[in-house]
Amino acid sequence: MHEAAPVNPWVALAYLVAGICFILALRGLSSPETSRRGNRYGMAGMAIAVVTTLATHHIASPIELAAAIGIGGAVGWMTARRIAMTAMPQLVAAFHSLVGLAAVLVACAAFLNPGAFGIAEGGVIFPVSRVEMGLGVAIGAITFSGSVIAFLKLNGNMSGKPIMLPGRHVINLGVLAGILGLVAYFTQDQAPWIFWTVTILSFVIGFLLIIPIGGADMPVVVSMLNSYSGWAAAAMGFTLHNSAMIITGALVGSSGAILSYIMCKAMNRSFISVIAGGFGAESGGGGAGGEKIDRPWKRGSAEDAAFLMKQAEQVIIVPGYGMAVAQAQHALREMCDKLKEEGVSVKYAIHPVAGRMPGHMNVLLAEANVPYDEVFELEDINSEFSQTDVAFVIGANDVTNPAAKTDKSSPIYGMPVLDVEKAKTVLFIKRSMGGVGYAGVDNEVFYRDNTMMLLADAKKMVEEIVKALD
Ligand code: NDP
Repeated sequence: MHEAAPVNPWVALAYLVAGICFILALRGLSSPETSRRGNRYGMAGMAIAVVTTLATHHIASPIELAAAIGIGGAVGWMTARRIAMTAMPQLVAAFHSLVGLAAVLVACAAFLNPGAFGIAEGGVIFPVSRVEMGLGVAIGAITFSGSVIAFLKLNGNMSGKPIMLPGRHVINLGVLAGILGLVAYFTQDQAPWIFWTVTILSFVIGFLLIIPIGGADMPVVVSMLNSYSGWAAAAMGFTLHNSAMIITGALVGSSGAILSYIMCKAMNRSFISVIAGGFGAESGGGGAGGEKIDRPWKRGSAEDAAFLMKQAEQVIIVPGYGMAVAQAQHALREMCDKLKEEGVSVKYAIHPVAGRMPGHMNVLLAEANVPYDEVFELEDINSEFSQTDVAFVIGANDVTNPAAKTDKSSPIYGMPVLDVEKAKTVLFIKRSMGGVGYAGVDNEVFYRDNTMMLLADAKKMVEEIVKALD
């Protein structure tokens, strides 16, 4: 057994304070009311961790470090300024891939020059470090290739539909068993071929695990890769003997895993099935559920919508991805303020996977200063649609599609949906009857007698409704 280097108690204390700040940050981020405070805790924790690391570690070249921080910071700053809100999920996936790649590179550096990391004696790497290195490179490579596939799917460079390889479960299990077996063997023999084979197999399994996932399961993939990136960072922390990285990585890893579990439960998916690479998702999407419905439908105008909502006692707003595309949240808030002045009760119904990232709608509504007590989660509001006069669906589609409850061939089958069709009147804003949602399926609610289609860009239509309400 090798002796760990003595830890400076001040460094340990500073890392502990940083860890507490991160825990408080996560706690703050669990509710919109406290999320700003949570972010501040997170920033403070990160500042403490970075300053402590810089001040207490021997840094070979401060100029090189400053240049790296400058280049990375500039790229991050420009990306954050330019990125459209609707492209956030692919950006998050891209960032996860970088964490994975960093873990792989750290493990490779440690393997090639273990002396520099203090994990070897006479060129022989300590067995415990070999386990850390093997697992670190495996988790990092899985995170990297999985995130690249998720990026390509979310960015539309690759079909969002599940790609099912024949015998994929046997292949996946075989590759996973191979990786674990080789990591175990690596503790006995530090031959380079073992390390590089683990690395290559892990890149392959990351790819194999994500390609069969698609459609309604993509949100879970995003949060699951978030979790993997945390474990990859924790693995790096072990290799670098940095407890702040271990704490941060473990927090990100476990909170991402909890979020994935909550989302799976909310969407009626089995957690194990999703992380095992779409196990059980045999429908593959695009079956009967993908066919276009050929039935008459009713078109309404902004004036019709204003009239109907003015007469209503209660209106439930259902926002979706189209609201984000149109950036209609501010106009929507104005419309709801006018309705409230008319004595109409207004509530917002948020589906757990509305939009393209967890919490997407909450963020947009918070940006428009929508009061938090008017915003309800699916399970808290779904029973209210049957007593509601108007369900106002703005740019949402899949999250309102009743095929999820009835059509076994639909790619969204099994996902709980908002029961908008139970309201007396459903107003649906979208740009055309031809456009479909993320899952690529038509929505039968468009053709119901109690539905009125408002075909236009969401922001333009809502602005016209506001004028008509005046
Ligand atoms: P959908 O993608 O199902 O539907 C979006 C709707 O908005 C379409 O009907 C589209 O029709 C309309 N639309 C698009 N642009 C505009 C615009 N400018 N003005 C008005 N309407 C517009 O969105 P939902 O939010 O209902 O569902 C989210 C889907 O995304 C789910 O399938 C979910 O699984 C998936 N997903 C969610 C993620 C998450 O973390 N939340 C991550 C990845 C995927 P038209 O083109 O005719 O205007």
